Amino acid sequence: MTYDIATIPGDGIGQTVVEAALPVLREAGDVYGFEFDVTAYDWGTERYREEGAMMPDDALEQLEPRDAILLGAVGHPDVPDHVTLHGLLLPIRKAFNQYVCKRPTVLYEGVESPLRGYDGGDIDFVVYRENTEGEYADIGGREHRGFDNDVAIQSALFTRQGVERIVRQAFRAASRRRGKLTNVTKSNAQAYGMVLWDDIVEEVATEFPDVTVERLLVDAASMDLVRRPEEFDVLVASNLFGDILTDIGAVISGSMGLAPSANVNPEGEYPSLFEPVHGSAPDIVGREIANPLATVLSGAMLLEHVGEPEAAAGVRDAVRAQLAAPAAPRTPDLGGEASTFEVARDVEARL
Ligand code: ATP
Ligand code: MG
Repeated sequence: MTYDIATIPGDGIGQTVVEAALPVLREAGDVYGFEFDVTAYDWGTERYREEGAMMPDDALEQLEPRDAILLGAVGHPDVPDHVTLHGLLLPIRKAFNQYVCKRPTVLYEGVESPLRGYDGGDIDFVVYRENTEGEYADIGGREHRGFDNDVAIQSALFTRQGVERIVRQAFRAASRRRGKLTNVTKSNAQAYGMVLWDDIVEEVATEFPDVTVERLLVDAASMDLVRRPEEFDVLVASNLFGDILTDIGAVISGSMGLAPSANVNPEGEYPSLFEPVHGSAPDIVGREIANPLATVLSGAMLLEHVGEPEAAAGVRDAVRAQLAAPAAPRTPDLGGEASTFEVARDVEARL
């Protein structure tokens, strides 16, 4: 079996972590019996500064036939965030209907927790964030700033189709995992969209009698992720709330350099995109000290998605074993002195 993978290493440490993580995925292929056909695209802010666009006009056509996309990071201090967002990330997310943003948080053994009293192995949850509408939907013409620029209207869009599909994916995940789903909304303050969301969760729940549903307001959920993170299994939330909760999740995992993510089109009609949660990290660029594990773990999510769950588990086990071994190489974010490539090669050897 050969998988056709696109990589977009992008900017800053994105290039380093993708270069380091790819050999780990190839090694997984050797061990579990498949191959990768990799096409690398040099799209990002450098291209934007030279040619005025993050990616070429036919970028989406080039990506569409691929089995999956592995992205490093896009961003540069001199390029406004909306350029990177609207020039690359959002067009891909929209064109390929990647309506699930999936972000797992695992506190691995051997990693120091920022939460007092927690050790590796205690925390393991995943956030399913709605990725296409909600508070980040651009409802053409409605939103505006007026009255001498002193008043702004910003609305949110929730549709039955949009909510139902993310909620159903979250229930499926909970049913495969520990059977618990936490529905995070703010229906006391937002009486339309969030109430529609809650109603749909109740309806879909009847299809999954094996899943226990907990309902939390987003403010309470933010506290509880810090106070009792071990009790969470799957959380489902809107675009904005999911955005915030997943950053709490990334911190809980012990380092930004350990947090993977996926933008998924679950039906597989289009390629899904896998990327570390972190950005281009201009403060550490060019020093080869970026932690490659967030990208390696994103690669494991990619393997699972294309249909290689055993290889995915193998990669995760290799990462788990490395983090648990006191003498194994670690990048500075985890208190070590090893380089990006030393850490990646060690995972490869453990595979
Ligand atoms: P961008 O604008 O591209 O999002 P950023 O400035 O927001 O970049 P992030 O990449 O989100 O920066 O990183 C935030 C902090 O976490 C930085 O101080 C960075 O050094 C650190 N960091 C991020 N990724 C890693 C990594 N893989 N390894 C080690 N440290 C990291
Ligand atoms: Mg950032």
